[in-house]
Amino acid sequence: MPKFYQYLTPAQEDELRQIANAIVAPGKGILAADESTGSIGKRLAGINVENTEENRRRYRDLLFSTDKAVAENISGVIMFHETFYQKNKDGVPFTKVLQDKGIIPGIKVDKGIVPLMGTDNECTTQGLDGLGERCAQYKKDGAQFAKWRCVLKIQSHTPSYQAMIENANVLARYAMICQQNGLVPIVEPEVLPDGTHDLAEAQKVTEQVLAFQYKALADHHIFLEGTLLKPNMVTAGQSCPTKNTAAEIAKATVTALSRAVPPAVTGITFLSGGQSEEDASLNLSAINAYPGRKPWALTFSYGRALQASVLKAWGGKDENIKAAQAELMARAKANGQAAIGQYKGGAGAAAGQSLFVASHAY
Ligand code: 13P
Repeated sequence: MPKFYQYLTPAQEDELRQIANAIVAPGKGILAADESTGSIGKRLAGINVENTEENRRRYRDLLFSTDKAVAENISGVIMFHETFYQKNKDGVPFTKVLQDKGIIPGIKVDKGIVPLMGTDNECTTQGLDGLGERCAQYKKDGAQFAKWRCVLKIQSHTPSYQAMIENANVLARYAMICQQNGLVPIVEPEVLPDGTHDLAEAQKVTEQVLAFQYKALADHHIFLEGTLLKPNMVTAGQSCPTKNTAAEIAKATVTALSRAVPPAVTGITFLSGGQSEEDASLNLSAINAYPGRKPWALTFSYGRALQASVLKAWGGKDENIKAAQAELMARAKANGQAAIGQYKGGAGAAAGQSLFVASHAY
């Protein structure tokens, strides 16, 4: 009988550690292609493509059938449930298409954001019911990691204690259930970029949110080496008049992380959070080049910042697939360089445009 504090066997721990390390191998990161039906609908509307199941499948087929050289910089892909069980145009399951390239399939397992009663418009994330059974099935069907996103908001009196403790706790429960089922949990407590706050305030709030997060993970006996953190970079609010340099953002981000994230955590895979494709790459590169202490891999798990140019180049037309895939390759390469602190800028044409969406849902 294992002792009460040994809830994973050494073999289970080894498997989780190995998956987490493979995802954040040097120069590699994650393509977050897990937009729910509603969120992808907004992206498709932007290029005048109807939000049908077939169009969603065609778009993901485009992404996943990009030349296998993309796997030099993309180690994993997060998918939404529908996508996870879809197939390419030749009838091959997307999970197999990815595995054949050496890309690890991942699955978004949360069921979306709901209001927290009695707060100033704050929220938590639902989806724990039946999660064990769902994780077991996803693992059987090829998933090796999972994602669950919580959001915290900077307003005059938030994030509240209630929101920080509740979101940290639900992420810890999710992480436990994932690990018991052989999935590496990506723990995502996102501090939204909406607001007028400056860089220092964003840093303080991020530190506090992460402190709550790691206390909850410790309370739940989570095996940290078999987890990944998906945080926001520390940036001033979207409506803050002061614009910071990449070096300032890097310093604030690494400082916040170093104060709150234990060195045992295998990797940190940032979300792009409405930054332009180019800013997301330049800031990640500056973070990796920053001389402060950084005991974890620091890489990307971008949605918008890997897909905006792809969507634009595609425009829903089959004849544009190659051009769209070339955009994905260019962004993947740029972020792969950024993950080792060596991106100097200049990849892609339309990449400077802000991708901010107010109060972003995923
Ligand atoms: P963005 O990179 O578009 O912020 O999204 C990443 C993600 O997966 C958010 O949950």
